[in-house]
Amino acid sequence: MIHPPEVSNLDVLSEALRRRTFAVISHPDAGKSTLTEALLLHAHAIDKAGAVHGKAGRRGTVSDWMAMEQARGISVTSAAIQFDYRDTVINLVDTPGHADFSEDTFRVLSAVDAAVMLVDASKGLEVQTMKLFDVCRQRGLPVITVINKWDRPGEDALALMDEIRARTGLIPTPLTWPVGISGDFRGVLDRRSGDYVRYTRTPGGATAAVEDRFSPADAETAEGDAWVTASEESSLLRVEGQDHDEARFLAGETTPVLFCAAVLNFGVQQLLETLVESAPPAEARADIAGRRRPVNAAFSGFVFKVQSGMNAAHRDHVAFVRVCSGVFHRGMVVTHAASGRPFATKYAQQMFGQERKTADEAWPGDVVGLINAASLRVGDSLYDQDPVEFPPMPLFAPEHFRVAHPADSSKHKQFRRGIDQLDHEGVIQVMRSELRGDQAPVLGAVGPMQFEVVEDRMTHDFGAAIRLEALPYQLARRTDRESAEILGHDRQVEVLLRSDGTLLALFSTPWRLRNTVRDHPELTLEDLATGS
Ligand code: GDP
Repeated sequence: MIHPPEVSNLDVLSEALRRRTFAVISHPDAGKSTLTEALLLHAHAIDKAGAVHGKAGRRGTVSDWMAMEQARGISVTSAAIQFDYRDTVINLVDTPGHADFSEDTFRVLSAVDAAVMLVDASKGLEVQTMKLFDVCRQRGLPVITVINKWDRPGEDALALMDEIRARTGLIPTPLTWPVGISGDFRGVLDRRSGDYVRYTRTPGGATAAVEDRFSPADAETAEGDAWVTASEESSLLRVEGQDHDEARFLAGETTPVLFCAAVLNFGVQQLLETLVESAPPAEARADIAGRRRPVNAAFSGFVFKVQSGMNAAHRDHVAFVRVCSGVFHRGMVVTHAASGRPFATKYAQQMFGQERKTADEAWPGDVVGLINAASLRVGDSLYDQDPVEFPPMPLFAPEHFRVAHPADSSKHKQFRRGIDQLDHEGVIQVMRSELRGDQAPVLGAVGPMQFEVVEDRMTHDFGAAIRLEALPYQLARRTDRESAEILGHDRQVEVLLRSDGTLLALFSTPWRLRNTVRDHPELTLEDLATGS
């Protein structure tokens, strides 16, 4: 038994205050992996971009894990990376870039205190950017917007601000303003000090860019018209009320904006400074009843991600927990709220890409990976002393459905175990019915790429290859027992029981659903949260 050292309330409060826990989110290809690596580089958590995997190429950065991710060049899994910057402890929680994994992204966003939204300067707000802005708004998450790839020809800076304002409803309040149009990125006007920060490229962008500060007068001498334009545009923003206001940012009314070229490491330092100065620290979190549990209450946290097979050598199972209150000591025995059972945290680790270090203690805002945590499911709460339950994670409405069959019928045990495991992890939704039987569960996904992950994992992690049979449904509605009886007579509709206990009625087309509602207005057919 490890006896934790005495920790005072003051320690917890000051550690919580030092934390900045956030996710970088964007439409695919906006530069999330590149920026993540640039942040690590600037915080001296790594020495050289691309160094972690020993690759010169930009693929395979620290936060990319699975072989499949690298093959596709997308992040499927969530990694939490912790590093220090000055007196601040930064927890960067990775999110999948592809829209097919929107449920996973949603869960990660429930575990962070702020989001950094990357926008590709030449593309403006893309489909996934808009969806993510919307999720942040729903969750009340403050968003810092980073306009990336300013080294490439793209849109006009003021036009981009107008687009953000018009399409997201957030007022963009730039902290930096580019000197030089997109494609001619010389530096930024630091709108708070008025200084010019000039960037100089380093060969290949592999090390932190050189930054020099100039007074406005010297900036004009150095950059001429480019500086004059930048300062005029900055004054215009001031007149329009687009200066940073901390309270309005935290209230989700405004979004501070920074201009970057992640690949050249331009603007990354300013982003780190902004995270330290303006992003919220770990704060009291509301439980399922809406009561806010102070950060200095006894330990509590919730599971936002469960993952297996991350380390091929040990077929392990990791539950990622966001610490909400108190201090976590490795070895402490906490209570699993869902079962009321004690849970021993002997094996706790913090992640750094593929590297792991043992987590001896963790504070509010931190993420710990609990190993061999087979009983923990996504959304579960853990606590010490005073019971608490945090709100459950919503399951999105599945839009793609396939029946899973074991390719080799003698492997039914492995098949069952694998499907259950992937269900626990939230990789896929699992539904069953008496009619179809236990050996033919229906898998529901928000995006079809989830099925590929299931096939891959079933074969490689569970030794039970599967065959998937497509079903013609597109829509799911929540129903109840009574309505299910009636719907059971309709051959065009199928009712299945999802593993969370929800009865889902599946329809092939919106038209079919409309007809059913018209013919049977008395039926319960409720909308589910949607991920698209
Ligand atoms: P992700 O899909 O959002 O993780 O994007 P990546 O980080 O993989 O970047 C997508 C592509 O954009 C890669 O080819 C990067 O090298 C490139 N890229 C990222 N940031 C910049 C940038 O600031 N300027 C330019 N020109 N290219 C960039």
